[in-house]
Amino acid sequence: MKFLAVPPVLLAALLLLRGPLAAETPADAENPDDYTVYVTSTGKKYHRENCGSLSRSKIALTLADAAGSGYEPCAICKPPVLEVPPVPFRTAALYQVNIAGLRGTGQADLSRMTRADVVDHVDGDTVRVRIRNPPLGLEAVETIRMIGVDTPETVHPRRDLEFFGKEASEFTRQKLLGKSVFLAFDWDRRDRYGRLLAYIYGPDGDCHNAALIREGYAHAYTVYSFQFMDEFRALEQEARRTGRGLWG
Ligand SMILES: [Zn+2]
Repeated sequence: MKFLAVPPVLLAALLLLRGPLAAETPADAENPDDYTVYVTSTGKKYHRENCGSLSRSKIALTLADAAGSGYEPCAICKPPVLEVPPVPFRTAALYQVNIAGLRGTGQADLSRMTRADVVDHVDGDTVRVRIRNPPLGLEAVETIRMIGVDTPETVHPRRDLEFFGKEASEFTRQKLLGKSVFLAFDWDRRDRYGRLLAYIYGPDGDCHNAALIREGYAHAYTVYSFQFMDEFRALEQEARRTGRGLWG
């Protein structure tokens, strides 16, 4: 996406005037907005590729997406900055299954969902994604808590009952990590930790939230109301009845 509506010749002249920026940036990026910069899954700065701050996680973004999502340039590696401050004009509406009035996960329209790449995996019901050209209200890197499911904890040290957490976590890793997925939303956009609440549809068009329950990797989490609550409850009943996964 372009923030500047200027002829290429003028843009080239501008870049030449800004000597240091033009000299430091990759020759193959014609539009400075498209320069590749890097962020971590938790920090609020963006970096050059070789910055020492990237030792724990490293997620590639365009400069436009990084700046447009509120990331600030790192003061140490001094990555390029946008010519013109980002203006959030990405107004594409998020696809909300409640507003669409869907009766089940299978009715969802993938073409209206937000595309994202799963770049990190936290546990069975939580992943991190990168969103290209994030629409207004979303950031370029988001932690997603899947709506309506609760997988056993993998990180809680004192609860042996949660023994099935590893399997749930592995199921999600295998199905989603490194994959291009589709996001749909419901009544609440975020939880109290700021995590994005979403349904994640895999490349095969299957709702992963539902798959977790159907395969016995998760409970239906019904403390907060959501559009597919009846379906998820029924999936859990069926998983219990047939002794799948954690019910076995
Ligand atoms: Zn840096």
